[in-house]
Amino acid sequence: MSAIPSSLIQELRPKILERRLRLEAAARNVSAEYVQDLLTQVDAALERIDKGGYGLCETCHDPIEEDRLRRDPLLRMCLDHLSQAEMRAHEQDLDLAMQIQTKLLPPRDVSQGAWQVHYRYQPAGVVGGDYCEIAAMGEDGQLFFTVGDVAGKGVAASLLMAHLSAIFRSLLALNLPLTEVISRANRLFCESTPATHYATLVAGRTTESGVELCNAGHCRPLLLRRDRIERLEATGLPLGLFCGSRHAIRSIEMEPGESLVVYTDGVTEAEDLEGRAFEEDRLIESLRAQAGRDAAATIDGVLQDVERFRGTGRLSDDMTLLMIRRHDRGSGSSL
Ligand SMILES: [Zn+2]
Repeated sequence: MSAIPSSLIQELRPKILERRLRLEAAARNVSAEYVQDLLTQVDAALERIDKGGYGLCETCHDPIEEDRLRRDPLLRMCLDHLSQAEMRAHEQDLDLAMQIQTKLLPPRDVSQGAWQVHYRYQPAGVVGGDYCEIAAMGEDGQLFFTVGDVAGKGVAASLLMAHLSAIFRSLLALNLPLTEVISRANRLFCESTPATHYATLVAGRTTESGVELCNAGHCRPLLLRRDRIERLEATGLPLGLFCGSRHAIRSIEMEPGESLVVYTDGVTEAEDLEGRAFEEDRLIESLRAQAGRDAAATIDGVLQDVERFRGTGRLSDDMTLLMIRRHDRGSGSSL
């Protein structure tokens, strides 16, 4: 029979004791029966720690999921053995998280001036830790776009993603230069999250004749020139690691018809049934095969290639793929 790591028990024991103190302090103002019921649960958890069996499911005796125990150290059942009522509550929470996340994502097609942007966001679970934003920036109608990846997975990562989204939306309203947006976002993210939490991302804004780009430790964006594909290296550290880190911005000229592709590692690290990764080379090959198609058809075509490559394997990480294209000369400015 496997057990809960003793380090986790050492981490949770003081939290359970703190709950006990709070319950005693609250006993004067809250109904006695309610407090007594909670006290019984707290004492039962402490007893399980002392006598053994803490953190193990009472039905199957397997360890309860660690992230769930951290959120609620009094849990007695693993996810597989929740009661029907608990299961319904769990599903409702996930459903709500998904609705919140869906509202945070930008429209899938944005066309402004000489630019067309299209992206696809595919979480591995109900919610994801990838981040994507497309928004108007500044007074001259330039576009801001970003694709990021928050450390971790699931609901916890989706909350960090929501946090990052709020930071960027507030900053974008201030009409700052891109470099200032990134360094302020980094500082705010750093100061408001634990040190273990960070995000890699590529952020850019359109200019008269191309884009300004910042890559904070994220996978290399690909620049689709008319005659070749260029890989663009990272220019800085991930967001949230060091409050004072600086992020260089590079300017890239883009001819009409040329595109930039930004994605998360869920795409290049998608595995086939033998455990081989899709890799950047296959992504480039797939992009070459879509030549001549518009941004939406290109993104869909690449994701179909990833799907075919993966076969029936489970999606293990969130996937986001964004393409920004400078319109061919003479084509209209809206989709
Ligand atoms: Zn169980």
